[in-house]
Amino acid sequence: MAPGALKRLRHPGILPVAALLVILFVALDLMSGAVQNSEQLSPAFVPLLALVLLGLVALAVMVAVNVVRLVGRYRRQAAGSRLTARIVALFALISLLPVGVVYYYSLGFLLRGIDSWFDVEIDRAMTDALTLNQASLDLNQRLLVKYTEQLLASIEDRSATALALSLGNLRRQADALEVAIFGPGGQVYGTASEDPTKLVPDLPVRELFHRVRGGENYVGLETGSSGELVVRVLVADPRGGDNLLQAIFPTSARITELSERLEDAYNRYTELAYLRQSLKLSFSLTLSLVLLFGLMAALIAAFHTARRLTAPVADIARGTRAVAEGDYEQQLPLPKHDDELAFLVSSFNAMTRRVAQARDAAARSQQAVEAQRAYLETVLGRLSSGVIALDPGERLRTANPAAQHILRLETSDVAGHDLAGLEAEHPRLTRWVETVREHLASGEEWRAEVTLFGGEGRQILMCGGSPLLMPGAQGLGHVVVFDDITTLIMAQRDAAWGEVARRLAHEIKNPLTPIQLSAERLRHKLLAKLPAEDARIVERATHTIVQQVEAMKAMVNDFSSYARTPRMEPEPIELDRLVAEVLDLYRSAGAGAGLEVRLAAPGAQIKGDPLRLRQVLHNLIKNAQEALEGRADACIRVATALVRDPETAYIELSVDDNGSGFEEGMLGRLFEPYVTTKTKGTGLGLAIVKKIIEEHGGMIWAGNTAEGARVAARLPVWQPDPVA
Ligand code: ADP
Repeated sequence: MAPGALKRLRHPGILPVAALLVILFVALDLMSGAVQNSEQLSPAFVPLLALVLLGLVALAVMVAVNVVRLVGRYRRQAAGSRLTARIVALFALISLLPVGVVYYYSLGFLLRGIDSWFDVEIDRAMTDALTLNQASLDLNQRLLVKYTEQLLASIEDRSATALALSLGNLRRQADALEVAIFGPGGQVYGTASEDPTKLVPDLPVRELFHRVRGGENYVGLETGSSGELVVRVLVADPRGGDNLLQAIFPTSARITELSERLEDAYNRYTELAYLRQSLKLSFSLTLSLVLLFGLMAALIAAFHTARRLTAPVADIARGTRAVAEGDYEQQLPLPKHDDELAFLVSSFNAMTRRVAQARDAAARSQQAVEAQRAYLETVLGRLSSGVIALDPGERLRTANPAAQHILRLETSDVAGHDLAGLEAEHPRLTRWVETVREHLASGEEWRAEVTLFGGEGRQILMCGGSPLLMPGAQGLGHVVVFDDITTLIMAQRDAAWGEVARRLAHEIKNPLTPIQLSAERLRHKLLAKLPAEDARIVERATHTIVQQVEAMKAMVNDFSSYARTPRMEPEPIELDRLVAEVLDLYRSAGAGAGLEVRLAAPGAQIKGDPLRLRQVLHNLIKNAQEALEGRADACIRVATALVRDPETAYIELSVDDNGSGFEEGMLGRLFEPYVTTKTKGTGLGLAIVKKIIEEHGGMIWAGNTAEGARVAARLPVWQPDPVA
């Protein structure tokens, strides 16, 4: 079957189905009429039956197509199939139960009713009534024969004229319609009729004459010339004459009607009795067809109702599934009928519309957020300051490239790490982490300077922070901004001190030479002219002046060397070897008393300027020697050691002595220029040492030990580039 035809069978539309149902109903009604009035409509029964069967087959095909499709959809678990199945089953049940019960009892009543028509009693009563009717008719006719015989016997004169006269009287007397006398050959001797215009009598059939002459009088019901029932009596002369008398009597209208009806009824009864089985069959058939019709109509109605109910439900189910899969563009067709389902569907449509709008809005705001984030990232990326955002749990949320560069972090260090983890992985950041932590709790803006000692030396960070606050939200975390100001600070300080040193050197150096020259001239001019006593005084005084000027010149040179910022000439140096060389110099010059050396970083190299590093050693050893002056047990220990932390390796250079140690109040300012306790001291020794160590990316500190003073410096180990 073509799919179009199949579809038309499945959804035939209300009008054709309704028309079919009406036609079927009318046909069934006519059929039941035909069954009841078998005489009149029986010819219509068979065509009606055919029509009904045809209609029922059409309905059955429709139902079958729908059922087959429903089974398929049920198996596929199509939306709405279960509801349809349930509705159809319910309709079938609801219609089948009462219709079935009615059918069962109706059929029973009908069959019993038909049987009761042909009851034995009724059968006998029918026959008896017929016999009775016959008997009464017979009696009546016999009387009429007798009477007619008497009439014939009463006719005395048989002449034609007399007969003509007496026949009229006889007719009136007998109350007959017509009387006629026939001769032996059947010739008419005379006649008298109620109708005066009628001249010829109503002749009997020929053989009646023979029968009557044979001695058997005739009486019989016949249809008269004008269509009414009449009794014809033909008798022979009881006295032996040759003439025959015919009298035609009218019948009583009532009797005729009754006997006719009786006859009719009897005929019908026998006919029905004969048709009894086929009657039963046709009644049962009609009833069964009515039942089938009811069932089919119910099923068709069920499918129609289910379609009406489930179509929107299936639509909604389909729509919800689509929404669940993220398709918010679903708009369902509105059902034709304005009911709760239509409301549901329109609500669903409104809902998907809103969800789609909300999704679009969310997507738009997401885009805006993305754009904002990208913008922020670009800005942060371009910043030279490090920016780190922390969440309330001290976890790193963001760290811009500058922050990673300043803190020397890898990108992997940043993602998802917290401050504690950062500190554990990078111990050199401990100071920074501590400073940040200190200020986190305060919830206020802060600024602090943090000095880190790390792989590439000392690093001074200027940090600032602020809690992240948003209106309506609290505790979003903290943002820390920091700059590496190491070079800046050093440059500033160095520039400042350098300037001071340069000026001092300049101011002092200029008068020194004239002073020295003047003193020497004084000695030269006066020494010979003065008495011996005075000459000795002048000699001593000028000597002192020249000596002090020399000392001042040396001091000025120190200033100059601090102020000067000669270009570093860094080269790989094995520090142990350098230290050993310097100490050998001391020993060979006879100044090695109490000098001890412990070198524990053999082979380790640093990148540096050997001249300047030698100066560091000289300054430190000189300080120790000055602190130990005059002591018999003087001991100066110069040591190197390799120190490693997880990230970097250092060589630690230390100079220990067993002197009096640093004065307590000075510890904080030791490395500043012009800080000295010595009368002839410049306070530049340690300042220059610090400057050189820092120029090498190292750090230096000083403190007192159990024996005396200790100055230690760390210089980062230089690893030759493997490729180079
Ligand atoms: P100067 O030697 O010209 O005083 P320095 O900068 O070398 O300048 O030293 C500063 C001061 O530090 C000294 O004056 C001294 O008081 C103290 N000092 C340095 N080294 C030692 C040491 N080894 N023991 C005790 N004090 C020291």
